[in-house]
Amino acid sequence: METSVTLERALEIACQVPLPREIEETGLDDASGRLLASDLASKVDDPRFDNSAMDGWAVRQADCEQPGATLRVVGTSQAGSSSVPAVGAGEACSIMTGAPVPQGADAIMMVEDSVTEGDSVTINGPARPGYIRRRAENLREGDITLPAGTLLTPAAVSLAATMGHSRLEVVRQPRVAVISVGDELTQPGQPLADGSIYESNTYGIASLVSRMGGTPVRHEAIHDSIDLLRETLDEAAESCDAILTSGGVSMGKWDIVRSIMEDEGDVRFWRVMMRPGGPPLFGTWGGKPIFGLPGNPVSSHVVFTVLVAPWMAESMGANPHSGPRLANRVRVVMRDPLRGAEAKLCMRRISIMQEGDSLVGTTSTHQGSGNIHSMVAHNGLSLLPPGTDAHEGDTIDALWLV
Ligand code: AMP
Ligand code: MG
Repeated sequence: METSVTLERALEIACQVPLPREIEETGLDDASGRLLASDLASKVDDPRFDNSAMDGWAVRQADCEQPGATLRVVGTSQAGSSSVPAVGAGEACSIMTGAPVPQGADAIMMVEDSVTEGDSVTINGPARPGYIRRRAENLREGDITLPAGTLLTPAAVSLAATMGHSRLEVVRQPRVAVISVGDELTQPGQPLADGSIYESNTYGIASLVSRMGGTPVRHEAIHDSIDLLRETLDEAAESCDAILTSGGVSMGKWDIVRSIMEDEGDVRFWRVMMRPGGPPLFGTWGGKPIFGLPGNPVSSHVVFTVLVAPWMAESMGANPHSGPRLANRVRVVMRDPLRGAEAKLCMRRISIMQEGDSLVGTTSTHQGSGNIHSMVAHNGLSLLPPGTDAHEGDTIDALWLV
């Protein structure tokens, strides 16, 4: 077991015990939010044929150089047309957006620039070749525009359909058990006894698991009892691909996740040199990867964001550019000073916004790791290197939460 590791080392160790990467098929209706498992090549050219970008007239540009020129109407090309009249000199074919461009036409004139009378049309504006969308100008049959590991966003699902795919190979969603530990924890909606608080972490962590493409299996809070914890971990290791616990990993007498893992599990690392979120633990239980996240709500969210999320992404074979993530790394000019942490990467909650040509960061709420409101009121985390503070006007690295 390693202790007090850097965040990079923690990620390296965790990635030695990845989630299983299994492939299954899904239809387009259920593809949103899933991770594409294999490269997707287009079955068609897009566009499939030269077509009009405007409602108007398909013409020969040379016929339209004199304003007021009159052309003979030869017919109509509408979207879905399979036979379209050819356009000769002095002729025009009415054409709709997306409809095939007739043989002989080399430009489109907008309907707004024309006057029709009987079977002739008067040209009052420019005819533009640029209003023709050329065959394959977007993509060619065989082009791979969706590489394996892409998160299927709404636009990506649309693109898969455009390319002619009805079923997609996706990575099976890992089942991730989410377990909280603590005698003080009470289900929201229930009356609170003296000394109790509402259990919140499993709800937040389960949402984060979903955002990363997993299926959370949320458990009711369990008491600080080694026997109950053992039973719950055994059941979770049987039925899930990974386990996340919250609470009970510090130095306290009742920090039973740490003690059961030390006595009966296999701990790979404990403690990461970061604040908030110092005490996380990683190892295996019943052969399944387990992260012991801290109980403080901000800490558990932050550790998930910077450690569990990248581990899930890497395990599932996510593409670094187009895969799921919870944050983007940016450079931010601080408007408020931030205090760093001795020997630890310090992730203060900050608000990132655009001001002129740069991103600026401010901070307003109490920074305690118990204050989950700070994660809602702010949209970013500072990445202050160990032992450094930020002064007003300093440019720092930060994570912009997405
Ligand atoms: P622990 O890591 O168990 O020492 O907990 C640290 C702090 O986080 C304590 O104030 C706990 O009451 C709080 N806490 C632990 N688990 C949860 C949870 N599931 N939801 C909300 N707060 C929690
Ligand atoms: Mg506790």
